[in-house]
Amino acid sequence: MTVQKVEVRKRCGHREVVEYTGWGNPLRNERWLERQHNQDCAACRRAAAEKFDAAHGLPELVGSPKQIAWASSIRQSALRTLPDDKKHLVNKHTKAAWWIDHRFGPTAMPRTGAQWLEVLED
Ligand SMILES: [Zn+2]
Repeated sequence: MTVQKVEVRKRCGHREVVEYTGWGNPLRNERWLERQHNQDCAACRRAAAEKFDAAHGLPELVGSPKQIAWASSIRQSALRTLPDDKKHLVNKHTKAAWWIDHRFGPTAMPRTGAQWLEVLED
């Protein structure tokens, strides 16, 4: 599959080059590109993530800026779904790749609180 580099003007006003492979489905490609425009750039998402993490006393994530921004939003959604007495479990994993690899539950949907507990209490 050919990788195209497309320059996108992000919601925050910054420009970012995104790699675009396409899925052979024009509607899906269009939606993906639309999402790229409706999202802040990786640097802005990372800055927002760092602010959130600091405010919630979360450990810093390790990875590329894009991985960190992505993993941070996954970790935030895990925090929202976990019961209060289990929220501290998110501190166990600081590798951004771990959060990205575990973002989906067994039904290929974002994990529920119970599904997060399964992998976090492991
Ligand atoms: Zn930006």
